[in-house]
Amino acid sequence: MSKVKLPDSKAGKLAWKGDIPITSRYTAGVAGQKFFQALKEEEKILGTVCNKCEVTYVPMKLFCERCFAQLDETVDVGDTGRLVSFSVVYIDLDSKKVNPPQIVGLIELGNSQARMVHRLGEVKSSDLRVGMKVKAVWEMPLGREGKITDIQYFKPV
Ligand SMILES: [Zn+2]
Repeated sequence: MSKVKLPDSKAGKLAWKGDIPITSRYTAGVAGQKFFQALKEEEKILGTVCNKCEVTYVPMKLFCERCFAQLDETVDVGDTGRLVSFSVVYIDLDSKKVNPPQIVGLIELGNSQARMVHRLGEVKSSDLRVGMKVKAVWEMPLGREGKITDIQYFKPV
């Protein structure tokens, strides 16, 4: 019987570093492009609705993942929501300290059941409560790039 030496997590060796020479290009697709364009140009969070499955997808999708129906109904789910869960991030993927710690929340948007993970700001973690109402804080129009970070964070209302 031989012993296998495992990485020492106490020494912070949670990952091995290295490079893999892979190049690729990922496109947001037709629905994704419309979603990110609406963030940038209209300050709107768009979703698509499958009425059969009673599901709203955010970011919007062209087809329902459950019944494969084509989704033609686009909705603005609004930029407010309800905090479903949250977590405080103290270390990053490289085990480096995040200073100051960041708060990340799971937010149920508008009146839909669509949920989004995003940063929370202008609040102490001790003041957060599941169920509290939150609102998006948008990047200034000239600073927007058509990315999810066009929403800087969500803050309590
Ligand atoms: Zn469906």
